[in-house]
Amino acid sequence: MSASRINIAIDGHSSAGKSTMAKSLAKELSFVYVDTGAMYRAAALFCMRERLIQGNEIEESRVEQSMDRMFISFKYNDKSETSDVHLGGVNVEKEIRSMDVARKVSLIAAIPAVRHKLVRLQQRMADKGGVVMDGRDIGTVVLPKAELKFFITSDPDIRAQRRLDELQREGIASSFDEVRNNIIERDRIDSSRAVAPLRQAEDSIVLDNSNLTIEEQFQFLLSHAKKTISSKQ
Ligand code: C5P
Repeated sequence: MSASRINIAIDGHSSAGKSTMAKSLAKELSFVYVDTGAMYRAAALFCMRERLIQGNEIEESRVEQSMDRMFISFKYNDKSETSDVHLGGVNVEKEIRSMDVARKVSLIAAIPAVRHKLVRLQQRMADKGGVVMDGRDIGTVVLPKAELKFFITSDPDIRAQRRLDELQREGIASSFDEVRNNIIERDRIDSSRAVAPLRQAEDSIVLDNSNLTIEEQFQFLLSHAKKTISSKQ
C-alpha cells in the first residue's frame, strides 16, 4: 500500500451524516467511498424478496443457506459521481432507501451469516488502501487497522429532521415521528446485537455534529485526514 493510501473508517449512529462526510472526503482525497449500510440494505431487500422475513419473523437457517445466491456489488454512476449498489447485477439504489427496507435492515444485519459474507467483501474492497468506508463496525471489526477512525453522532431530533429532509428530497413519503422512531430503534438493535455491535473504537476520533454545518464537519475530518496522510509519508 502506498504511504498516502490510508484507509479511513467512519462509524456512528444512524442518520448522523456519515455518508455525506465519507463521500465528500473520498472525493477530495481521490479515494474510493464504500457505503456498507447500502450493502446491508441490499441484503435486507434480498431477504424480503426471497420471503425469508415476514413481519419481524426471520427464518435464520434459510437466510444462511441463501447467502450463496446473494450477489451484492457496486457500480460507478457518472451522473451522481458515486457508486450505486447492485443486487444480482441490478441497480437497487432507490429501493434500498425505502422505509420498508429501513424497518427490516437492522434485523437482517444482526444475522451472523449475513455479516460474515459482507465483512469479507468489505475487507477485500479495502485491501489496497485508499478507501473511505462508513458503517457501524468498520473501525472495530472490518478494518481494525485503519489508519484513521471517526465516530460520528448527534442529537436524535436533529438526525431525524435531516433524514426526513433527505427522504423528502428523494420523493419518499414519511413523517418526523416515523423517521425518529426508526433511527432510535435501529441504533438500539445495532448496539445490542451479539455480533459486531455498534461501538466506538477506542482509537477513534469522536465528532458530535449537532451544532456544526456540513462544511465545518468536512473541514474537521479533512484536517485529520491530511495530518494522518502526511505523518505516513
Ligand atoms: O448506514 P445505513 O443507515 O444505511 O445502514 C443501515 C443499517 O445497516 C444500519 O441501521 C445497521 O443495522 C446496518 N449496518 C450494519 N453494519 C454496517 C453498516 C450498516 O449493521 N457496517
